[in-house]
Amino acid sequence: MLKLPVYLDNNATTPCDDRVVEAMLPYFTRHYGNAASRNHPFGWTAEEAVDIAREQVARLIGADPKEIVFTSGATEADNLAIKGVFEMYAAKGNHIITAATEHKAVLDTCKHIEQLGGEVTILPVDADGLINLEALEAAITPATVLIAIMYANNETGVLQPIKQISALARKQGVLFFTDGVQAAGKIPVDVNEDGIDLMALTAHKMYGPKGVGALYVRRKNPRVKLSAQIDGGGHERGLRSGTLNVPGIVGFGKAAELALSLMKEEMVRLAHLRNRLENALLTLEQTSVNGSRAHRLPHVTNIAFKHIEGEAMIMGINKDIALSSGSACTSASLNPSHVLIAMGLDETLAHGSLRFSPGRFTTPEEIDYTIERVINTFKKLVALNSAWRT
Ligand code: PLP
Repeated sequence: MLKLPVYLDNNATTPCDDRVVEAMLPYFTRHYGNAASRNHPFGWTAEEAVDIAREQVARLIGADPKEIVFTSGATEADNLAIKGVFEMYAAKGNHIITAATEHKAVLDTCKHIEQLGGEVTILPVDADGLINLEALEAAITPATVLIAIMYANNETGVLQPIKQISALARKQGVLFFTDGVQAAGKIPVDVNEDGIDLMALTAHKMYGPKGVGALYVRRKNPRVKLSAQIDGGGHERGLRSGTLNVPGIVGFGKAAELALSLMKEEMVRLAHLRNRLENALLTLEQTSVNGSRAHRLPHVTNIAFKHIEGEAMIMGINKDIALSSGSACTSASLNPSHVLIAMGLDETLAHGSLRFSPGRFTTPEEIDYTIERVINTFKKLVALNSAWRT
């Protein structure tokens, strides 16, 4: 039996997997030690659990456990990477390159860098949401210390050419940071094969808990140095002070382990569900997919409905189907999505766009229900629109 509401907003956040919650529970009650307490078994047990989680997260991205710095989430990891490199490499230069479709956690951090006297180049994207590699190469100057380009976009699922970007960065001796939040755990990501120097991750987009994430920081070829942004007791090798969130970290580790073991089969199953939904909605008059369909995460589709307002569609169905018009972080405002605008959509079409992101627990029945409800609501709204116009 279909249970309402249907959740198709997994890019905003994912439910915690039961296996993750189960792994976390003992660390709230029985094993509540502080992982930094070195002189008793409570501390040792907590530290051991953190070590295991560090290995699990590292394995997901092909890193060494020593390269994982736990944080409160990806917003903090984005801040630590960008501000940390900017401060640490001040003697080399003050220039950062990013792109117009980045998450606000990156774009607003770059704005802050400008206030500190840094220079930021924001690369445009094409209609597919992709950056131009020649434009990237041309933007690099002797003062460039960091390229910050996301792996996969949260609104469209579009995948940037990570290997080519990292090759350019390497050639020019510039560090490469990627916000890997939407890609890690969903598709194969390997920091060595991909040539990534720093990467932000968060547990709550991979069926783990909210409030815990990590920054991957390369230790070899090259060894990346960072200025800490939170000072205190010197946790996480001095890069991020503060008592470790042991239950959260344990959950993150378990979520990463599960994501790795389920990835192959989830990619196929979710691509199938996404395509079924997408193909059905594309039969409607004047609908189109926003962003490259060839370079895209398997579980995301962002669809522009030409004749309607996305908000009106959402109001028509949101008691029964959870989805998103633009990024969840900015959907409290009615500003059109900066991602879609950067891809060349006009404001009306950006407002008339919806993001569908099925996930691990989405069923084929839920997809079929969504197809029917969206198509019916679309037809009603179009009829209302034309009645209003005549
Ligand atoms: N980066 C991207 C691409 C995201 O989608 C999100 C989540 O909204 C974040 C960063 C922020 O992550 P967190 O919620 O862990 O701070």
